[in-house]
Amino acid sequence: MITPGACIGILGGGQLGRMLAFEAKRMGYFVIVLDPTLDCPAAQVCDQQIVAEYDDLNAALDLVSKCNVITYEFENVEVTIVEELEKNIGVYPGSKVLRTTQHRFLEKSFFKDSRILVTDFALVQNLNDLKQAAIKIGFPGILKTCRFGYDGKGQRVLKNLKDAENAFNEFKDQDLIWEKMVDFDKECSVIASRNLSGEIVIYPISENIHKDNILDISIVPARISEKSKQQAIQAVKTIAEDLEIVGTFCVEFFVLRNGEVMANEIAPRPHNSGHYSIEACYTSQFENQLRAVCNLPLGSPDLIMPAVMVNILGDGQGNTFSGAEDLLKAKGVYLHLYGKAVAKAQRKMGHITVLDQSVDQALEKALNLRQQINWI
Ligand code: AMP
Repeated sequence: MITPGACIGILGGGQLGRMLAFEAKRMGYFVIVLDPTLDCPAAQVCDQQIVAEYDDLNAALDLVSKCNVITYEFENVEVTIVEELEKNIGVYPGSKVLRTTQHRFLEKSFFKDSRILVTDFALVQNLNDLKQAAIKIGFPGILKTCRFGYDGKGQRVLKNLKDAENAFNEFKDQDLIWEKMVDFDKECSVIASRNLSGEIVIYPISENIHKDNILDISIVPARISEKSKQQAIQAVKTIAEDLEIVGTFCVEFFVLRNGEVMANEIAPRPHNSGHYSIEACYTSQFENQLRAVCNLPLGSPDLIMPAVMVNILGDGQGNTFSGAEDLLKAKGVYLHLYGKAVAKAQRKMGHITVLDQSVDQALEKALNLRQQINWI
């Protein structure tokens, strides 16, 4: 057990690192973050920042020398660096989890091997693979880069062979995956935490609405059937155990029209769709990340009240946040801003969580209040 007073190292200093650092500081830990951007969101609330690129082994070893355990908030950390660090210190979730979750084909193959329902898919490394996938998986499909995709980046919808060839040429020299397009009813996600001793807690399922491929709204509890919920929970338990994940992670699912759930991807870290847990659950996804990597007993993930989280994105019109008056007057409304200096269009700048007696009431309130916010 790594107890308060010890030092937590975080690779990556965005909002997820910041929210972890808040919890760690509250609980009496020291926190050091490694991130290339000086004064990044997490650095503003940490004890120290090491300003370095993620592939700078010496900087990462410097972090190790100062910390008792390492975690990350950014899953594209180089696996080879994590393997080096693991020789000296616990890094959670470790290189095995990263290797699988950094590569969409390995990730979907893992789902299949673990008997978790997943869409049809094929690896595309050359033009011949592309033609084979067109026959085997077919249209409509989605061609995605296997690595470094997020918020819909690095993916193209394929309606015909011409689309496929265009996308292939655009993504040249990268491993690609051809997925069959899923005709889903809803999207949902499940956050879970698992500590080194193997204890697992699973959060209430979030129903997610995306806009322009970026998470827009999370509604908890998700408005899906009990059967769908149980299937998702079972899949998450299997994933946690088969991958031996230590930390907080998220699995995104499609809910099909027949109620079955199909896994889409794993984020081996806290997730935007779990931000509601900060106010709506007894223990947040960030506190349980801390507890898990420190091998402390996990806290209850139970929901205290229905919740809706809406993201606040930049719009490129200004960097000063305005219009929060009504929001600050309202009951059960929590404003989070991540301390980013520039509110570029589509950049995640913050979020609002609303707790209310029902998700319908919370949703209405959240959408009304968000409308009044703007960047000037
Ligand atoms: P991803 O980067 O895989 O999380 O994809 C981003 C979003 O694209 C998802 O949240 C879905 O809305 C959509 N999407 C991704 N893969 C598929 C698929 N195979 N079928 C239908 N929609 C998809």
